[in-house]
Amino acid sequence: MNKILINAGSSGRGWSFRAGLVGLCAQEWAYRQLLGGEGKPSPPLIKGSLVHIGCAHHNARLQAMQNGWDAERYYSPVEALELLADEEDLKLRDRGMRPAWAEHVPIATKALMRKMEEDDKRRLTQGWSPEIVAVEHRMVGWFDETGMVDAPANAAERLALLESSDPADWLAYWRQGAPYVHTARADWIERRNGFYYVVDAKTGYKADAVKTSGYQMSGQFAGLDAFARAAYGDLYGGIEIEFILFTGKVTRVPILAPPWIRANFGQTVVDSENRLGRLLEEGRDPWRFPKSMSEQTCIRRYGPRCPFFEKCAHGP
Ligand code: SF4
Repeated sequence: MNKILINAGSSGRGWSFRAGLVGLCAQEWAYRQLLGGEGKPSPPLIKGSLVHIGCAHHNARLQAMQNGWDAERYYSPVEALELLADEEDLKLRDRGMRPAWAEHVPIATKALMRKMEEDDKRRLTQGWSPEIVAVEHRMVGWFDETGMVDAPANAAERLALLESSDPADWLAYWRQGAPYVHTARADWIERRNGFYYVVDAKTGYKADAVKTSGYQMSGQFAGLDAFARAAYGDLYGGIEIEFILFTGKVTRVPILAPPWIRANFGQTVVDSENRLGRLLEEGRDPWRFPKSMSEQTCIRRYGPRCPFFEKCAHGP
């Protein structure tokens, strides 16, 4: 039997690679989408991705056991983490770059093992047994200035334009006007006491109030909130961040996007699409897209630098 490796990647048209990224720095979007740049992965992102894939397999196996399915059809969490590191290092070698993933396997494995041990402990001592409803769950919705709305009648045709590799098709997609598509991926969804919770895993070295309040303002969570409200209605329990620390305990924190952020999310999606559409319409040179040029964005929390720092510094 071939085992399943859950390697979901980005949701496609989500906050970090479209609406949020365009708001942050349209130039970075252009490097990624028009100039084929992938950038160099940073150690925090590598460690986070390794722990994420381990969690996905941990949860998929739990879900299988809860439903009487064969949990062994999935790779074990640690196997999955190691396979991802091998795959990504192979890709880097193919691009003529130095492998960067394997060296982070030990610390990521340790954090993952601690998370699984704490889950087991809570299950045994506190009867903690949430039902895993979905793992790496992709959500797709359409947004206009007012928020999430019904998909347009020609949604399939519009999505095909967006999936094209030809920017002329992207322009045709934009010219049809709002609503525009937005996607998100929930790390996992669990049901407790009859309510559905969206859980997002974050890794790092500390979890404090500054980080948590920053996430409250993030479009990532405003988008997930909009999707989950539409999907679960009165049975929606909320979004929770599970902080899986490299040196420390696993903690859960509820995240609620403030009301004005939620009310403005649709407008933000539309504004980002309009910004991109107008740049494509004028035929802007991809090297000359609007650059944030800010120490807040060119140097990153998950840094140390924007992966395209050298490109911006020295040009084509
Ligand atoms: S280095 Fe700065 S300006 Fe250039 S793409 Fe990155 S964030 Fe944008």
